Amino acid sequence: MPDILSVEQAKAQWLALIERRAPEEVELLDACGRVLAADAVSDIDVAPFDNSAMDGFALRASDLRGASDQTPVALEVIAHIAAGDWCETEVVAGTAARIMTGAPMPPGADTVVKVEETSVLSGDGGVGSQVRFSRAPQPGENVRHRGEEVKAGEAVLRAGERLGPAAIGLLASTGHARVCVYRRPRVAVLSTGSELVDIDTVPPAGKIRNSNNYSLAAQVLEAGGIPVAFPNITDTLEATKAALLEAAVSCDLIITSGGVSVGDFDYVKPALEATGQLFFCKVNMRPGNPQTMGMVGSVPFFGLPGNPTSTFVGFEIFVRPAIRKMWGEKHLERPVTRARLATAIQKKQVRRYFTRGRVRRTDDGALVAELCGDQSSALLTTAHRANCLMILPEGVAPVPADSEVDCIRLDIEENACL
Ligand code: AMP
Ligand code: MG
Repeated sequence: MPDILSVEQAKAQWLALIERRAPEEVELLDACGRVLAADAVSDIDVAPFDNSAMDGFALRASDLRGASDQTPVALEVIAHIAAGDWCETEVVAGTAARIMTGAPMPPGADTVVKVEETSVLSGDGGVGSQVRFSRAPQPGENVRHRGEEVKAGEAVLRAGERLGPAAIGLLASTGHARVCVYRRPRVAVLSTGSELVDIDTVPPAGKIRNSNNYSLAAQVLEAGGIPVAFPNITDTLEATKAALLEAAVSCDLIITSGGVSVGDFDYVKPALEATGQLFFCKVNMRPGNPQTMGMVGSVPFFGLPGNPTSTFVGFEIFVRPAIRKMWGEKHLERPVTRARLATAIQKKQVRRYFTRGRVRRTDDGALVAELCGDQSSALLTTAHRANCLMILPEGVAPVPADSEVDCIRLDIEENACL
């Protein structure tokens, strides 16, 4: 194994380890945003019966053949049908039924004329009235037909489709109170560091608040996983080993922050070797080259560096696609757009940088990328302001102003079409 892997090598090794989770049945609303694990078959025709698409009059198109402003036709209203009614009265030649949107078509009628295109000659427009029509409609106009969207016994959605709100509506109309989707992974979020205190404590001398536990849990949530937070881990081999073993019992994926570098109290790598396997621990990137990957028993493990921005970027590059893969999503990579660099950026020749920046569109329609603050890996403010990670490739230093750079769009979801 080379001492240091490229981002592509590390990612390929890591994602090869990640498997889609088993399906589960959930309440319909809990399926929103998730991936269907089995075809969803409709129990009824949708629409369930021929019905009106408009408020108007159901009639026989043949009665209005040749109707115009000059030669209007009058029909007698013989029924009044609301949504939810069922009408047995037949519309015969010379008659019409007043009908509301969604109400079932009465027998004999084949067409609906909108109420706005008619005028009442006598009566109140209800049963017994005479109504005037001055246009010849197309037969079938404004009628929604039984089984138009899906027929009983047919799949309304296929396994592998991601369920958005419209799909949830389709599943509701076809009788799916519960739905079979892939499980969301339970992701153990572990923070190492004897300096860490919980966020409700004002840190005493030498201590800092554990922010990574929260930023990581938030990233897990956004990626579609279930974050499971564990207590802060003090920097000892025993405490780190115990935490890894405990997390592996109840979670599908373990991520840690900190303790993967060359510090005297960095115990994640030895703890991983003692409890499972270590596959790699260095990736040619900045921020955060000590990205660490392995397994604890059968549970994939990813050790992120502790500096808050390194943690944030490492999660974006490695952990987010893994979580998406686990819940069955096909699109694992954020969209990348090319943009012109507003200013030159200094960097080390050999490293690939993921620089926090903002892309914006200029008045002439071009995309421009600029830094959005100090790139120190301790500063979350810059990550907060960023809408992209500019990829500054290895082998180039400095990157000149006006050069074209690829930008990973943090503001756009993976399946977006640019
Ligand atoms: P490490 O990777 O453990 O050497 O940590 C690198 C830097 O990140 C140190 O300044 C740590 O204090 C800081 N750090 C580590 N873990 C956290 C955390 N959970 N929340 C905030 N900062 C952290
Ligand atoms: Mg540490």
